[in-house]
Amino acid sequence: MKGVTVLQSGGSNQMELADLSVPESGQDDLLIKVHSAAVNRTDIMTREGKAGYAVNPILGVEVAGTVVEAAGSGSFSAGDRVMGLVNGGGYAEYAVMPANRAMKIPDSISSAEAAAIPEVFLTAYQTLFWIGKLQKQEAVLIHAGASGVGTAAIQLAKQLSDAKVIVTAGSRRKLDFCRELGADILINYKEQSFDEEVLKATDGRGTDLILDFIGADYWDKNLASIKHEGRWVLIGVLGGSELSKVNLMPIMSKYIQLTGTLLTPRSDSYKAELSKDFAEVVTPYLEQGKIRPVVDSTFPVEKVHEAHQHMEDNQNIGKIILNIAS
Ligand code: NAP
Repeated sequence: MKGVTVLQSGGSNQMELADLSVPESGQDDLLIKVHSAAVNRTDIMTREGKAGYAVNPILGVEVAGTVVEAAGSGSFSAGDRVMGLVNGGGYAEYAVMPANRAMKIPDSISSAEAAAIPEVFLTAYQTLFWIGKLQKQEAVLIHAGASGVGTAAIQLAKQLSDAKVIVTAGSRRKLDFCRELGADILINYKEQSFDEEVLKATDGRGTDLILDFIGADYWDKNLASIKHEGRWVLIGVLGGSELSKVNLMPIMSKYIQLTGTLLTPRSDSYKAELSKDFAEVVTPYLEQGKIRPVVDSTFPVEKVHEAHQHMEDNQNIGKIILNIAS
């Protein structure tokens, strides 16, 4: 089969579409014929050799496709359309997925759209509700609002919690799209001080929850934006991972809960529980079209280099899909 591997850690030119063996599925796995995979920042970090944990030599952490073999699985059988997280190996014609984390694709959703769901929607769901404990009508600040995770988080926060959704993004085009998804307060971080805008939008109180993809660059402004006893979930470090001269006092004096998380290295059982909970709660919204996957663009797998570059250039709104097979 064809699959994308990395020749040596580095830029997008280090990716190669190689001839590989079809992976072997175990007793509790599904072997999936992959129709679509999606690009994630974690793939870029893996390609650059910066993941910091053991990785599969084939890139890709999420797929949508058709079950080919379902040894020992009670829930799925050959021919079923499924989507979900894989432990690497997604950018390939065949991939192995533990059966207990596979999610049925609603009939109304295409394979390309389905590939846009698992990683970013599970991350948004986990950080908003499992970790962030978002309550009805609370205020949530979602940075990088037009990102894959951001577009998922806006919809989930709005539909499931009727939250006041405050987003930051770097252009009018991206902010307009966030509004279409349901965001209430739109902040262009290149033109406005987001902390001042958050305080204005919350009557000076601050936001209940922050989904932070930016890290170091936003540290001080996040501290200013969060309310007393607020929750702050660190999900990404697009703006750097190192802080110098940090004053920890405000974390204590504002009684802030700061939690970090990474989905890719989480255990199989964690991913299975998260997928199960997400599928039970969110599938009805997907079926009714109240929540939708956001596909920015689709590239044939042969153009995987361009797909990665598109993400690294911060051009995408929502997800970049790789078409593996028709
Ligand atoms: P994405 O679709 O590639 O979007 C990222 C957006 O962030 C960019 O388009 C850009 O939009 C904005 N951005 C980039 N650098 C920035 C900076 N220095 N300051 C402010 N904004 C910046 O991203 P994604 O796939 O949704 O992922 C979003 C983040 O979540 C990434 O950091 C990713 O690693 C992380 N993530 C974490 C987990 C986890 O489990 N912890 C899981 C999935 C993703 P603008 O044009 O608006 O600047």
